Amino acid sequence: MNDRLARCRAVLDDLGLGGVVVGEPADVRYLSGFRGDDTMLIISADVALICTDARFWEQAREEAAGFELVEAVGADPIADTVAAAAKHLGADAWLGFQGASLSYQEYRRLRRRHRGRLRDVGRRVSRLRVIKDAAEIDVMRRAGAVTDEALAAVVERGLVGRREADVAWDLLAEYHRLGAEGEAFPAIVAAGAHGAQAHAIPGSRVIAAGELVVIDTGARVDGYCSDITRTFAAGEPAPELRRVYDVVLAAQLAGLAAVRDGAHGRGDVDAAARAVIEAAGYGERFAHGTGHGVGLDVHEAPGLGRTRGDPLAAGMVCTVEPGIYIEGLAGVRIEDTVLVTATGGERLTAFSKELQVVG
Ligand code: ZN
Ligand code: ZN
Repeated sequence: MNDRLARCRAVLDDLGLGGVVVGEPADVRYLSGFRGDDTMLIISADVALICTDARFWEQAREEAAGFELVEAVGADPIADTVAAAAKHLGADAWLGFQGASLSYQEYRRLRRRHRGRLRDVGRRVSRLRVIKDAAEIDVMRRAGAVTDEALAAVVERGLVGRREADVAWDLLAEYHRLGAEGEAFPAIVAAGAHGAQAHAIPGSRVIAAGELVVIDTGARVDGYCSDITRTFAAGEPAPELRRVYDVVLAAQLAGLAAVRDGAHGRGDVDAAARAVIEAAGYGERFAHGTGHGVGLDVHEAPGLGRTRGDPLAAGMVCTVEPGIYIEGLAGVRIEDTVLVTATGGERLTAFSKELQVVG
């Protein structure tokens, strides 16, 4: 944690801030070890405070051992946080805050309480998490392995005749059985025409023979997420659907091949995957980005899309997940979570990508 705090302090230095209030739960966990919510950190050159209410005092003492606990007692935790900041930093200090995660009401309360100046640090603190260390990579490998195993167990039980929502619940039960904390995000299980919605919500729709089924899921292990999508054939699919599957697979392999230290999320990875889909005539049916970073949050930096892309560096973890969505017919998406290395990418999800015909 000391190295993480040091890097956070370097950001303060860089921005000329006296301190920063950190309220984004994944950042709070990353910097302090504390796993609860409704909690804020204040970090300056020489203090590290954790400000939370009575529900979390004991947990904060246990988990955020290097932090001094500020016991918030009022109805407005921001008031307690600002008071603590003023005591340690001086009332007139420049204070950074995370505009992306503070609500407008919270900002107004902060504005009212803090006499000094405020500055939105954007995602600067969150970006401290973008390069994973060896221990984080280890946990993410386990999250990937658990996800692979759960998906295999669920699909083994068949798809035809089951409701989408039942398959989604089955995945969650497998994660529990395998010792994960839970799922990284609510699973998508979308059959037939429903699969054309990239972020479909699983429902009572019964999976029929001949349909493609998109399953997008991930386990959460020790706070860290995994993210995989496979598209299965519930019974033998029509030749056109097989062709679409082959195009998406070729695109995904091209995207994966472009992942390496120094590559660009937009210019290299997204471009490589998109070029395959465009060449096959499905360019307009691939409307989302090719991937995103994964870590304590399931969607985080770096971006790998047409509209948002970042340079990749060794130690980042991201997804590669092109798709083709044909309204009224089907969707196909194939996604892996990948560790960026000096020479390429190491897949953290290893489930087979050959089109599996499942009964
Ligand atoms: Zn996914
Ligand atoms: Zn994803």
